[in-house]
Amino acid sequence: MESVFIVVVVLVVFFFVVQKRFLKQEELKDSEYKKKGALLNMQESAFYNALVTAVGEHGVVLTKVSMSNVVAPVATNKKHWFIANNRIAKSYFDYVVCDPRTLEPRVAIEFDNGKQLDKGKIERHKLLMHVCKSAGIPLIGATIKHSYQVGRLRRLLAAHIDLIEPDKEVRFCKRCGSPMVIKTASSGEHKGRRFFTCSRQPHCTYTENYNVVFEEDSSE
Ligand SMILES: [Zn+2]
Repeated sequence: MESVFIVVVVLVVFFFVVQKRFLKQEELKDSEYKKKGALLNMQESAFYNALVTAVGEHGVVLTKVSMSNVVAPVATNKKHWFIANNRIAKSYFDYVVCDPRTLEPRVAIEFDNGKQLDKGKIERHKLLMHVCKSAGIPLIGATIKHSYQVGRLRRLLAAHIDLIEPDKEVRFCKRCGSPMVIKTASSGEHKGRRFFTCSRQPHCTYTENYNVVFEEDSSE
């Protein structure tokens, strides 16, 4: 047992010595780099700024986040793990809104640059939707615009991020007229998502999606 341990230690030391002596110094010399400039183009940064304003202190907006930093494959065997891992290896999320304290990803946002759908774009959308659905990450799609309504963005995000309260929204039950309260789904397909429910529960079971009703309103 001891001799095996010694052999392993010797091999590890040998590996590091070889790497340090020969590989690092020689190989890196051939590779020079230049800066690529801004991380986002003008349209992407315009949306980024709108998003940061909408999120405020309730979240941290990260951009171009590698998918493999956000999700990991769930696979029963090595082969499936490698296939699943390869699928996401080179992809990234355009924007991820994270919890400000824990930096846990809360919502992924795909920014559609408005270019025509081609094979690459369709493949990307398919992958994104599958990954997010399978990992339980809410995905919001945003299309390119000349200007962004911060209030509208905030409403879209409000369903997924606690604390973001759309400006003093008061809703009344469409069935009985009582005030409605905001609750968070604790199970099911929409787990973690917030919704309005009648305050007279369980006598009245009327509920409303947080988003849908808001989205019709474009008064801002
Ligand atoms: Zn009611």
